[in-house]
Amino acid sequence: MKLISIVIPAYNEEGNLDKIREEIDKTFIDLPQYNYEIIFVNDGSRDKTQSILEQMGKDFPTVKYLEFSRNFGHQHAVKAGLDFATGNAVISMDADLQHPPQLIPELVQYWEKGYDIVYTIRKYNKSVSWFKKKTSDFFYKILVTLSDVELEKGSSDFRLLDASVVEVMRQAGESDLFLRGLSKWVGFRQKAISYTAGDRFTGESKYNLKKMLKFAFTGITAFSIKPLYLASYLGFFFSFLSLLYIPYVIFAFINKTEISGWASLIMTVVFFGGLQLIILGILGIYIGKMFKQLKNRPNYIVRSKNF
Ligand code: UDP
Ligand code: MG
Repeated sequence: MKLISIVIPAYNEEGNLDKIREEIDKTFIDLPQYNYEIIFVNDGSRDKTQSILEQMGKDFPTVKYLEFSRNFGHQHAVKAGLDFATGNAVISMDADLQHPPQLIPELVQYWEKGYDIVYTIRKYNKSVSWFKKKTSDFFYKILVTLSDVELEKGSSDFRLLDASVVEVMRQAGESDLFLRGLSKWVGFRQKAISYTAGDRFTGESKYNLKKMLKFAFTGITAFSIKPLYLASYLGFFFSFLSLLYIPYVIFAFINKTEISGWASLIMTVVFFGGLQLIILGILGIYIGKMFKQLKNRPNYIVRSKNF
């Protein structure tokens, strides 16, 4: 019998754990030809998540858990789940029921048809704020423009990976992990299906504006060095512009029509000062990434597990 592993990262999800386990159990009633295991990854929660998982592990043989020593972030929590999963296919989904377990049979169906990766595209439901929609759309637009990965907007971390793909993903030791990009990047036979995201069952989203911005930067800089070229392009552009300026300066000098020029000087200084800082910042981001990667620390630390 084939085994399907379900990986669920959980950070302060005490109110959702029982519910999602129940929903997954229900789903698999209709898939009797498969065994399944649910791997919860407790990403350093501060609520009752851990004790609930420990109890659940005793009550249900299908439930496994990994406990991180602290919060390492959603992406690494999913990665840890992939590292420890033993299924013929691994499905990753959120703990808050925004990724409907009812979609699992469809994912599995396409997998059985021979697709190695079945990923999902989220359609918005009405309750998603205008702001979140716009920032998310904007993010994907920038990402696609700046990088070489063809990410559809609305991609989420709800996907099924064949064991062969999981094997490849395990080798990725990136400290700035962006699984959505990575799972596109690896290739294989991929299939997209779409779904409408529901509301969180309980609790609040852990992605505030600051985290979303950081995630966006991670996504872009993890898959592209195009921002680094920006400096050169801008440099060429402005050098060219200043070339055009030279005849004017000579003309003004000969005709003695030079003006005092304070305003234009200040403008130029401020403008180029800002530009240089931005570009230094971009360089800094990449150097920071190299720094983090070079130290080669583990990307997550497991404190305990029940298997
Ligand atoms: N999550 C995690 N570590 C974190 C933040 C989030 O493991 O540092 C988990 C969280 O428990 C949930 C999933 O990642 O299962 C998605 O988080 P959330 O629902 O807050 O994000 P959103 O759906 O709002 O994008
Ligand atoms: Mg959510």
